[in-house]
Amino acid sequence: MRDPSIKRRVAEGPNLDPSPVCVLPGCGRPTLQAEGRGLSPFHCGYHVKLKARHGSFLCRTIRAPHLKPYVTAATAWLKVNAMDPEVATAVADVAWSMPHPREAVRADEVRTKLPKEKVRIAMARLRKAGIRPERLVAIHMAITALIAEDADADRSDEYRLVQVGKAVHRLASGTHREGVLGRNSTVPRNPHAIRRDIYPQSSGRVLRFLGSTIEAACGHLTAQHLPAIIALKTERFGPHPSQVPGWVPRWKRELLAARL
Ligand SMILES: [Zn+2]
Repeated sequence: MRDPSIKRRVAEGPNLDPSPVCVLPGCGRPTLQAEGRGLSPFHCGYHVKLKARHGSFLCRTIRAPHLKPYVTAATAWLKVNAMDPEVATAVADVAWSMPHPREAVRADEVRTKLPKEKVRIAMARLRKAGIRPERLVAIHMAITALIAEDADADRSDEYRLVQVGKAVHRLASGTHREGVLGRNSTVPRNPHAIRRDIYPQSSGRVLRFLGSTIEAACGHLTAQHLPAIIALKTERFGPHPSQVPGWVPRWKRELLAARL
């Protein structure tokens, strides 16, 4: 708790009647406010961290293999419809939100920037890495389609935006440098050189802003053609497991596990 204003607000006490324990079913941990460690009146430290990291109190980050069929389908759909004016406009809008690569500063210099500035740097970094705007549109379509098809998924805007931000952030987030132990100078091809990979923290508001930036450019296109993307993905890879008869929803699985 480095921000003194947060410390003061905690000391001043709650604005709402806090719950002594986390309100999420089956958790039972004390809330941050009850512990005097934070402002959250209804959630524990574990779930607050989970939400900052994944955009949801309940769902974790979508794994790349689960997302891949949706990205493949969205990419194929975008290719077939590339000449459609709506598609061209969305792709151009995403390209417009990717600044010149010279704005991509080193990852260890990003930490001190404001969230919106961090998003500009992240988008410039993607351009520098040669990531095409069509790929970002495909990722937005893929995440939105997977969340729509997965009956267990968190349907909040927050989860969708953070997941888009995370998937995009993974494409070009690190700075790779070679240096020598004990020195600041960079000496390539030195046998004693160490490789340093620095990744800016993939958490919090930056991911949400990154997701919103992409959604502002292509959200309309995704919403309009979501059924076509899901149909194409189903045709090639089959339905999501939660759409198959006999599937047990998560709440029921957790209830059964708690009774064992
Ligand atoms: Zn909790």
